[in-house]
Amino acid sequence: MSGRILIVDDMATNRIVYRARLAAAYYEPVLAVDGEGGLRMAVELRPDLILLDMGLPDISGHEVLRRLRGDLRTRDIPVIVLTAARDSETRLAAFSAGADDVIVKPASDQVLLARVRNLLRARAEVDYSGTELQPAGMAEAALAFEPSGTVAVVTGRTEAARRLQRDLSGQLRDRLVILSRSQALADASARGCEVPDVFIIHDEEADAGATLRLVSELKSHQATRHSAVCVVGRAAEGEEAAIAFDLGADDVVAPHVTATELALRTRSLLRRKRQGDRRRARIEDNLRLALVDPLTGLYNRRHAAQQLPMIGARAEERGRDVAVMVVDLDRFKAVNDQHGHAAGDAVLIEVARRLRVNLREGDLLARIGGEEFLVVLPDSSIPDAQRVAERLCEAIDERPIRLATGQTMKVTVSIGVAVSALADGGKLSVDQLVEQADLALLDSKGAGRNQVTYRQSAA
Ligand code: GH3
Ligand code: MG
Ligand code: MG
Repeated sequence: MSGRILIVDDMATNRIVYRARLAAAYYEPVLAVDGEGGLRMAVELRPDLILLDMGLPDISGHEVLRRLRGDLRTRDIPVIVLTAARDSETRLAAFSAGADDVIVKPASDQVLLARVRNLLRARAEVDYSGTELQPAGMAEAALAFEPSGTVAVVTGRTEAARRLQRDLSGQLRDRLVILSRSQALADASARGCEVPDVFIIHDEEADAGATLRLVSELKSHQATRHSAVCVVGRAAEGEEAAIAFDLGADDVVAPHVTATELALRTRSLLRRKRQGDRRRARIEDNLRLALVDPLTGLYNRRHAAQQLPMIGARAEERGRDVAVMVVDLDRFKAVNDQHGHAAGDAVLIEVARRLRVNLREGDLLARIGGEEFLVVLPDSSIPDAQRVAERLCEAIDERPIRLATGQTMKVTVSIGVAVSALADGGKLSVDQLVEQADLALLDSKGAGRNQVTYRQSAA
């Protein structure tokens, strides 16, 4: 996994050591010698991760963190704070300022690199650069109030879990539940709550192997793979911490962690989990928008083009005929010319609605041109198609369309229909069907509009 890592440290020896370690692991290290320089490079180079020393000559590490988190351009870059101080105040202050982890120097290579891999992987999972439309910098900032989440403490020892729950509940406003290991992996009904946003695995007495297996299972189960997992306990020490990170743990904490520190770490995990949720939701939205016409909410031409071959293949498999219709508004240009484009849009929306309510669930309806719609009826004979086409024509003709201005407007559509001849032993080409329906539409227009013309596929 490659990634650009910004090292902000005023000690030349530290910079050299970290640069060598990271470069040896195929990362691209870039170096800053003070806080202002680090902030500038963070904006200009957009690193995937920052290693930040807290004792800097110009401004404090806390100030650097605060400014990174306050800037939309750098807010989501993970930061690992490196500090020589072993006291918990230093760590707490770093977490409060927005650090993703705090590692005490000298850091073991193994733990540092595992932590780096883990933070970069979490970032790569949600950062589908290119497929994601970046909001104009406001969508996330507007969320001043985060919804509260669910945090599950997973442990075999209920007494320890209760203590943890009590300690945390004073510091988090999220829902806290206690789960056994099997409940953590069970479905919602056996678990008794929705999928937790964070699992805190408390492995005080359990063997580290079981904890590592649980991390790996939570991270591979469909339902829980996006939840954050934090391991508290012996697995935090030495080599096992590195393994836990590589199995997907999002945080690994020593058993003597204070409640305040654990609460801060949990908050940071919740924040990252929500960031991921939001990015995934945006990507899904964008995928959906690529297939839907924004004016009418109907599928667009691209979606129709993707669906047609599949509908054709299914029809052939089952030997059932398919009907294709092209529906086009009559003299629609005149509507725009006489009443304005907004009125034209309102008419299109209402026509789309009437077409939709007169079709079945399994029919395909798409807006394939400005005032042109495609309807595909799987499993449809000629008389079926005839009935549906007449009904659609009638649904537009029967009632004038009322605009927001109170004005009413009479519009009509012409329809061309083509039906496959599979039932009669013919072969099917959906492209040819659409072509035939288009020709039939021209016949409807030529014959005076507001009517339906049929063609049976010649093939
Ligand atoms: P015909 O009966 O022969 O189909 O005549 P027509 O006027 O409907 O056909 P023509 O193709 O000449 O004009 C289609 C018009 O549809 C032209 C264009 O301004 C209008 N149109 C296309 N897309 C939209 C849209 O999204 N909104 C609005 N308001 N009008 C649109
Ligand atoms: Mg038209
Ligand atoms: Mg047209």
